[in-house]
Amino acid sequence: MSLPSSVDVAIIGAGAAGLGAARALENSNLSTIVLEARYRLGGRAFTVVTGGGGSPLAVPNITFDLGCGWLHSADRNSFVRIAEQLDFEIDRTRPPWREQGFDAVFPPKERADFIEALDDFYDRAEVAAKGGRDSAASACLEPGNRWNPMIDAISTYVNGAELDRVSILDMDAYEDTGINWRVRRGFGLLVLTYGAPCPRAVNTKVTLIDHSGPRLRIETSQGTLSAAKVIVTVPTNLIAEESIRFYPALPVKVDAARGLPLGLADKIVLALDQPDALPIDGNLRGATMRTAMGSYHLRPFGQPCIEGFFGGRFARELEDAGKGAMAAQAVDEIVAMLGSEFRPRLKPLIHSRWAHDPFARGSYSHALPGHAGDRAMLAAPVDGRLFFAGEATSPNFFSTAHGARDSGERAADEVLASQISR
Ligand SMILES: Cc1cc2nc3c(=O)[nH]c(=O)nc-3n(C[C@H](O)[C@H](O)[C@H](O)COP(=O)(O)OP(=O)(O)OC[C@H]3O[C@@H](n4cnc5c(N)ncnc54)[C@H](O)[C@@H]3O)c2cc1C
Repeated sequence: MSLPSSVDVAIIGAGAAGLGAARALENSNLSTIVLEARYRLGGRAFTVVTGGGGSPLAVPNITFDLGCGWLHSADRNSFVRIAEQLDFEIDRTRPPWREQGFDAVFPPKERADFIEALDDFYDRAEVAAKGGRDSAASACLEPGNRWNPMIDAISTYVNGAELDRVSILDMDAYEDTGINWRVRRGFGLLVLTYGAPCPRAVNTKVTLIDHSGPRLRIETSQGTLSAAKVIVTVPTNLIAEESIRFYPALPVKVDAARGLPLGLADKIVLALDQPDALPIDGNLRGATMRTAMGSYHLRPFGQPCIEGFFGGRFARELEDAGKGAMAAQAVDEIVAMLGSEFRPRLKPLIHSRWAHDPFARGSYSHALPGHAGDRAMLAAPVDGRLFFAGEATSPNFFSTAHGARDSGERAADEVLASQISR
């Protein structure tokens, strides 16, 4: 779609939040457009399919989500209903994070001990949060506990950051119902399909929102348009870096975004030759006592592959180390756990580099210690004309795709309420 010169509502960003906002406004009689810097919809929701018919490289067909993969808190997840409506099959297989370890590398007795230490940590964090004073979640680690580095590793997967960078109050506000499902065809494809009806302009990077005049003036890489209202859904790191600018400046928003940086989680998929030797939907993680280590999902959906997951500072190091570093690390770790006969059977196919992605600059938001209140600050409308959505604005489902989508719907409701009260 080419850029209109004027609309009622411009929505910046075609991730789950922007698409959620646009879908919520579709029957409102307001003209809308979603302005998206990338060539595609979905943002941090992105499904890739490797291989392809007759590929000379003999790469198998593997469906892989480079971003969100799990319908977290599935019993309260708005994408479950959408998946059903759009005929996306939901897989309710239990996730492999806790019990389904690989006994050879993480003996059951050790694993049970680790899970107990992890649960004790979460219990202490909950008690600390009830006290109402914020601090770093690392303060809830038991001094000298041998599992502390691995508990920190879990934080790098869950929060994208080590516990010293995570607010206890914010961590406690997250609502995890413990039910996690998947969609076989890919979460990214689900978000893309959900957003397909939305009017949008892709390859359109917004650089400035000028709210000094009676109408909002939006400068983009494809030209300028005006709007009565704007919904901003770009990731916090881009607001914090002022990659998208406001005139007059909005220092409260920039400060709130700085308190909610995107942590880092990266994924890699490795094709696995002779897969039957490994269990479907198993978990592979060694009792290595290190924070800097990957977590591996064996044969997701029974596919002939292993998915690796890296988080926090270690993921950043691997991204910064450049081409081949993440693949080499994943292969070395898997071989160290399963044996050298696996080396020739593993073929790294594709991996994410979310910190280096210019339109994300990270994976999902966490609040820095002392900044749990920043989510509400970021979400608050300005002047009845500028509205804010995106996963980081969700009070209880931040860092997730459904939290992002629901926040878009909330911002759309605010737009409609502001029309009525005008
Ligand atoms: C590795 C990884 C694993 C994850 N796992 C899960 C999971 O299992 N379950 C889950 O629920 N969530 C998961 N998430 C998080 C989830 O993907 C995100 O929370 C969600 O997709 C964010 O949606 P959003 O709309 O807030 O932001 P985004 O998806 O980032 O959308 C923002 C959009 O704005 C665009 N944009 C940026 N700058 C501009 C600009 N200047 N002009 C125009 N457009 C711009 C971007 O290109 C992007 O499309 C994961 C994320 C990652 C990276």
